[in-house]
Amino acid sequence: MGALAKVATAVLGLSFMVFVTFFGRLPAFRRTPVAWLYRLVWVHLPNGLIAIDERLTGGRTVAALTRFSSYIMYDRHPTVLIFFILLLTISTYLYLPSSWPLMAPIHKILSVPTILCPYLFLYLSAASDPGTITPSNLPREMARYPFDFSLFHPGARCRTCPPTSSQSGGQHGEEEGRAGEGGDQQGGQLKPARSKHCSLCRACIARCDHHCIFINNCVGAGNHHYFLLLLLSTAILTLYGGLLGTSLMTSQMRARFPGWKWAWWRASRGTLYGNRNGRDELGMPFTDWLITWSWGMQDGGRGSGGGVAMGAVTLLALMTSPLVWGLLGYHLWLVYCGTTTNESMKWADWQVEMDEGGVFKRKVNAEKRGRDLGVEPAWTRWPVEAEQVLVRTGDGKPPRGEGLLPGEGPWEAVWRLRDVENLYDLGWWDNLVDVLWPYYMFRDPYVPVAEDRVRRKKKRRARKIILA
Ligand SMILES: [Zn+2]
Ligand SMILES: [Zn+2]
Repeated sequence: MGALAKVATAVLGLSFMVFVTFFGRLPAFRRTPVAWLYRLVWVHLPNGLIAIDERLTGGRTVAALTRFSSYIMYDRHPTVLIFFILLLTISTYLYLPSSWPLMAPIHKILSVPTILCPYLFLYLSAASDPGTITPSNLPREMARYPFDFSLFHPGARCRTCPPTSSQSGGQHGEEEGRAGEGGDQQGGQLKPARSKHCSLCRACIARCDHHCIFINNCVGAGNHHYFLLLLLSTAILTLYGGLLGTSLMTSQMRARFPGWKWAWWRASRGTLYGNRNGRDELGMPFTDWLITWSWGMQDGGRGSGGGVAMGAVTLLALMTSPLVWGLLGYHLWLVYCGTTTNESMKWADWQVEMDEGGVFKRKVNAEKRGRDLGVEPAWTRWPVEAEQVLVRTGDGKPPRGEGLLPGEGPWEAVWRLRDVENLYDLGWWDNLVDVLWPYYMFRDPYVPVAEDRVRRKKKRRARKIILA
């Protein structure tokens, strides 16, 4: 048990640290132990080590480590992707030969798609275009989502991506292009609503969620569905593998120690356990229950080809499974809220400024407001349009400069996110359709916009953006 307990502790600790690393910076964990641990491990601990290294080696060790870790984290290379594939493959290689002879036929059939699906969706997530925005597809990308005048404003340009040749929105005429040129000489390509420039992919990505080092690719509008399916299939694989391994081990343990039960307190009384010194013994002592587990993990199926390899992989699967299910749950939650990892961080920044009292909103008349077609699409496939503008002033007073800002009417102070509308939240079902079916047409391109407005009554509020 000693060696196995060490492995278990290491795997559990590692899973927890991966969890902290992934989730520690997320708004949902602000002011929780997860965020404190994140700061301890990724801010305070490194600072302490830097101080020590400065004394001992003049900072050379840290410089080398920094280069290495920034290579791992901030360069586009498949190291983590290969690690992921190796982990899947080696685990399968260790697990299958020992468990196969013990499996019932139904599990033999089910195990094939269960093992293959993560590979398939890993390939599709990594190899497909996450939604790279180029001069040629810019008009189409501009029509993907309308600007919400809160997180995304028309006219924003990428500082890195080169501008389109006409300096305009692409599909629009030369006239608008020239009109927009005045203040944007230094600007690059227009940024469609919900897009983000990824410095690793060196491109603007449509509805960019985040850059994922496990797939060595961005998660964006083009591959979000594959990414969710990758999480789902990996979550199923780890849970199924873990439970099946446990069940195979326990059936071996039952065959060897008939008094054994899942729950120790049930195993410990009632049933006939053994015969010692001519007396029947009722129940199994706790230590024997533990030893039986240890036997099951290490030697459980040895006679039939099982053994410590299967036990170790089962343990790994059971311990990583909550992490994968957690990641899947988090991403489904974001879909439910009609937001992305990137946007949830922007909303969190808004909440901070709302707490300080410097955020105002007012109405925007979607039908009447003037549009600069040089920087804004005339039509989008999205069924709703912005009806509010959100402005931060920082001094607690409503914005001045009436004519410069979009919208009309009086300004209203905003204190809570739930008083703000999330334009990109159409409700759980439509949000899911939008993710699973890239570029689904929520609006018929052949129905005039004015007529279409009468039909849509799907607006929701951003109250579901849950932040700590
Ligand atoms: Zn860019
Ligand atoms: Zn990227």
